[in-house]
Amino acid sequence: MSDSKTQQSSPTSGSLGSPAGIANHSSAARPDRYDPRAIEQKWQERWARSSDLYRAEPSTTSRKKYYVLEMLPYPSGALHMGHVRNYAIGDALARYMWMQGYNVLHPMGWDSFGLPAENAAIQNQTPPREWTLRNIAAMKRQMNRMGFSYDWSKEVTTCLPEYYRWNQWFFLKFLERGLAYRKNSKVNWCPKCATVLANEQVLPNGCCWRHEDTLVEQRELEQWFLRITDYAEELLQGLDQLPGWPEKVRTMQRNWIGRSEGALVDFKLAGAAGPAGDKISVFTTRIDTIYGATSIQLAPEHPIVTDLIANNPALLAKVEDLIAEQRRAKESGDIGAIEKHGVFTERFATNPFNGEPIPIWIANYVLLDYGTGLRVRQKVRSRHSRGDPAAAGKRSSTGG
Ligand SMILES: [Zn+2]
Repeated sequence: MSDSKTQQSSPTSGSLGSPAGIANHSSAARPDRYDPRAIEQKWQERWARSSDLYRAEPSTTSRKKYYVLEMLPYPSGALHMGHVRNYAIGDALARYMWMQGYNVLHPMGWDSFGLPAENAAIQNQTPPREWTLRNIAAMKRQMNRMGFSYDWSKEVTTCLPEYYRWNQWFFLKFLERGLAYRKNSKVNWCPKCATVLANEQVLPNGCCWRHEDTLVEQRELEQWFLRITDYAEELLQGLDQLPGWPEKVRTMQRNWIGRSEGALVDFKLAGAAGPAGDKISVFTTRIDTIYGATSIQLAPEHPIVTDLIANNPALLAKVEDLIAEQRRAKESGDIGAIEKHGVFTERFATNPFNGEPIPIWIANYVLLDYGTGLRVRQKVRSRHSRGDPAAAGKRSSTGG
């Protein structure tokens, strides 16, 4: 293809009445066509020589600061057009803010501490470190070819000790203060990846995103948890100090955090019990409404559900459907938009306050992730009450 010499040999476009000041420049040969290989390479080399070009000024400067941070890519080996679109938007914003006179910090880095690196290394017979660092170098070259305006002096690579030593340090602090603990939890497991998958990595048909012919299993594994519920009250109070946030977002946050004050009530399961025991623990913030409880709604993955479906294939099929619906809703990114329904288990539990039998349901809108994984329905509700008065299952009652 052409090189920078093309510029000289191409026909000149003439001066076209350019102002005198740039006559010298425009009288030089200018090609009719834009030749990216010649022009961009020339400027990229020039930009590479000025290492301070996109460097943020020290925080002590008086100029107003602006931080542009895009999601750090996972170094899979090559940028694709999705990356280019995403990073071009951040790049445009950073340049716009520079032109507005801001001291812009626009860093880049690599989300490179991934389990897939291990599998790729096994497949390619290359040590993970070598494979990952080579991919990073390749992607960085691509980013520079795109002309993105990064402050590379702030580059972070999460698979290198200089970065992850801080993760370890944080974790040890959590452990020292009793905020990190272990318990069993259901996870998505791909037998081919031999790793845990995030919900977004499970396809709508229940298969692995990397192995479209392999069904993802639900496995109970011992996991580490952080006792973030200890900070629920503080977080809730902090929400009131966020002026300018849409009320819709604050409500979502409030529901996500849940309440930290409430009572744990044990409902005894009527009839035969299985390995999960004969007790259903409900966390409620409205113990005053407990007499009005009309049903218990369990998350489809609640441990007691396993017992209830053990000898009931019809119920098992329905529960599998509910789990699939939840997975689809999680993938679509809006679990709140799920069309709510449930199935009656034909079993009852006893309200410890009045001895009344309460029907047990399994509902598609109750998530095990959110604490106890169940809710209690009340028949008595104030006309003006907002949301779910029981709010059960929003906070982990097991606590580890
Ligand atoms: Zn897989």
